[in-house]
Amino acid sequence: MRKYFLLFIAMVFVSAFFTAAPVCARPRGAADPTNALKSMYTPDYLALKKRILDQFRNPKPGRFGEFVKGAKKDLDTQQKVIAFTFDACGGRHSGYNAGLIEYLRREKIQATLFVSGLWIEKNMETFKELAKDPLFEIENHGLLHRTCSINGVSMYGVIATRNMGDVVDEMELNARRIAELTGRRPVFFRSATAYTDEASIEVARRLGMEVVSYDILSGDAMHSSAKTMARNIVKGARHGAVVIMHFNHPEWHELEALKTVVPALRDKGYTFGKLEDFSVN
Ligand SMILES: [Zn+2]
Repeated sequence: MRKYFLLFIAMVFVSAFFTAAPVCARPRGAADPTNALKSMYTPDYLALKKRILDQFRNPKPGRFGEFVKGAKKDLDTQQKVIAFTFDACGGRHSGYNAGLIEYLRREKIQATLFVSGLWIEKNMETFKELAKDPLFEIENHGLLHRTCSINGVSMYGVIATRNMGDVVDEMELNARRIAELTGRRPVFFRSATAYTDEASIEVARRLGMEVVSYDILSGDAMHSSAKTMARNIVKGARHGAVVIMHFNHPEWHELEALKTVVPALRDKGYTFGKLEDFSVN
């Protein structure tokens, strides 16, 4: 299985090399990365995929965005709890912010990590170590870090899925990969860029996953300073707020920001929780 997965990842990189931008188009004659997916297409998986696709006749994408119908962004709680979520995207973004994770461990801060299949393959030992740590919850950031849309609509130049079959692959194959490696199947999914269409949210639901967006945009991906990030988070803090950050860019400023944010929020009576311990809305 691992051998096939590595082969598949290698083929994706090769095909990505030949198919750089534009986002949703591929030059004629270039290798189709979906051919590489076939190594993960077990009979059991294909039967599930067919079952899901059969449930949709002429599907309409619905609205596309970060906060469309069905996308979750808060914990459903009246407790003073904040959920820190950190994405790991993969591809050119396969770094590891070890200092940030050390800080979370030292301060005993629970967090939810959304991890892509591409990032896992580049960071296997680290991934297994994070998955073993009860402080952290591993969730699904997609097999190939693609923005989920049933008609190829994307954001920020990130490659999008082209149809519903691609959406099922992106969500389900990474869920299976994570379950195989950790013994726990993810229950939450965050699409690359956090944008998705309403049809993809329905697909996730039928695969047993909720799509989670965010309530507080930390600003890390915009290369905001630690000061700006800390202001964004502390200002937005309220019961059950989900904060979006990353742990795959050690050069960004999450760690420095959290050194201000964590004591400030603790002073206001907040604790830090994982998504899996709450319902989300
Ligand atoms: Zn991402």
